[in-house]
Amino acid sequence: MEKEALERIEILRGDITRLQLDAVVNAANTSLLGGGGVDGAIHRAAGPRLLNECRKIGGCPTGEARITRGYNMPAGYVIHTVGPIYSGRAQDRKLLSSCYLNSLKLAVKNSITSIAFPAISCGVYGYPVEDACKIAVDTTCDFLKENRTIKKVVFILFSEKNHAVYQEYLKSLAK
Ligand code: ADP
Repeated sequence: MEKEALERIEILRGDITRLQLDAVVNAANTSLLGGGGVDGAIHRAAGPRLLNECRKIGGCPTGEARITRGYNMPAGYVIHTVGPIYSGRAQDRKLLSSCYLNSLKLAVKNSITSIAFPAISCGVYGYPVEDACKIAVDTTCDFLKENRTIKKVVFILFSEKNHAVYQEYLKSLAK
């Protein structure tokens, strides 16, 4: 069961905006009006129609997720989720886990079968990547064990260091 879930997870290094999957996840902020990091990259790649659609949504609380189209990106949809700003408190973990869980639930609701996540909260929001990686992978794995509709989940990391952390953790689970 665990092995079957792990087989649907892939770790890549690169730019999420270039992935041709049903959906890519954006590490947004609560305004959903764009920002730096991966959020800026997604808005640049998708074009101004993305911001237009985001404006109509009217924001998103931390830990929740909202869906839009992908516009000029190869991915059909963008799932916007808002990670916690790292504080070192217990609630960080719960909120970060909710980002993954709510994104995956929203994906299923929209018949999405392939989806990519960046390292949510690991940029300007300051979450230590070793902890964030475990939360990301464990939450996703638990979801995939119960859900058959999602065929592929990609974790795409921008930096070599973060890529190595994810690869190492996946390797430890596969044993
Ligand atoms: P947050 O505010 O949630 O911390 P950031 O965008 O600052 O979000 O960073 C989240 C992670 O996304 C960081 O590890 C950063 O290196 C990575 N990142 C930035 N641009 C891209 C991109 N184009 N594709 C994939 N990951 C990216």
